[in-house]
Amino acid sequence: MDGYHVPDATGMVKLDAMENPYPLPDALRPQIARLVEQASYNRYPDPNASRLKARLREVMAVPSAMDILVGNGSDELIQALMLACGKQDAVVMGLEPSFAMFRLIAAFCGMRFIGVPLRADFALDAERTLQAVAEHRPGLIFIAFPNNPTGNLFDPAAIERIVQQAPGLVVVDEAYHAFAGQTFMPQLARFPNLLVMRTLSKLGLAGLRLGMLAGARTWLEHLDKVRLPYNVNVLTQLIAEKVLQHHGLLAEQAASIRAERGKLYESLCSLPGVAPYISEANFILFRVPAADAVFEGLRARRVLIKNLHGSHPMLAQCLRVTVGTPDENARFLGALKESLVAC
Ligand code: PMP
Repeated sequence: MDGYHVPDATGMVKLDAMENPYPLPDALRPQIARLVEQASYNRYPDPNASRLKARLREVMAVPSAMDILVGNGSDELIQALMLACGKQDAVVMGLEPSFAMFRLIAAFCGMRFIGVPLRADFALDAERTLQAVAEHRPGLIFIAFPNNPTGNLFDPAAIERIVQQAPGLVVVDEAYHAFAGQTFMPQLARFPNLLVMRTLSKLGLAGLRLGMLAGARTWLEHLDKVRLPYNVNVLTQLIAEKVLQHHGLLAEQAASIRAERGKLYESLCSLPGVAPYISEANFILFRVPAADAVFEGLRARRVLIKNLHGSHPMLAQCLRVTVGTPDENARFLGALKESLVAC
């Protein structure tokens, strides 16, 4: 198998990993410095991260009857789900193309992964997916909402049908929720086999590594058995809790990223030969005549984005750019124009 490759971005305009381009707001820095100074490094962290969970419940509007599980990034929660559900012959299902880690983690957790293709326009193919659910009886289904790398939201009614007909758990992965404004969180009370996953990574805290899963206690108490004790460290707990007390500041950053996304999309539309897809996330997928050459042209001009050509047949000649600051986006567009002319 191939591992998850992270390219070196030293000295580059880094627009490959859907990070928030804005640093932590200045107003928070002295408060965090104080927490770092006073933290108890000699002790293990709170194994249940109780204070952090209380703050997450409030900020993420987790229904009061539901529980929360925290992970060292949502990657770790995906792994916990697969470890817990990975009995012999168990199947995990995803839609494709989607987040590469679903398939990768399934492989090293020993689960059989079935990928159901999206439609050519990247919409969810409800009939085909329901047919695959009936045929393969997956214990676990992952649906990224919005989807990565395509950036679109799927029809919520189609997702509900899948949840209703699934014989096992359905995880709606809302990593890009801050940029989308649609959520399944309130639906947790309606569907006992639904779980909703979020991360703080795209919101501005990728370096802290914190993901969360919300759902019924009956599920989360079993998933908690495969979570390693103390998986969320002292500093992540303290700092995330503090930043979430000022969640409005991160929400403001997300709002400016959404505004920039609109401008970037318009600029991409105006370039001959470039075909961007509408996005509800903090990145834009776009097709060019020769993706490898354009990607290399950008890299030579010190701009790093993601080349998806070759990763899935439906992503032929596709590149994905994260929405950056206005200056980063301008530098990307300048380098893109030059790279398109050169090839
Ligand atoms: N889900 C989706 C759909 C993603 O795109 C990503 C990161 N690219 C993740 C989960 C993992 O995020 P993290 O581990 O940083 O929480």
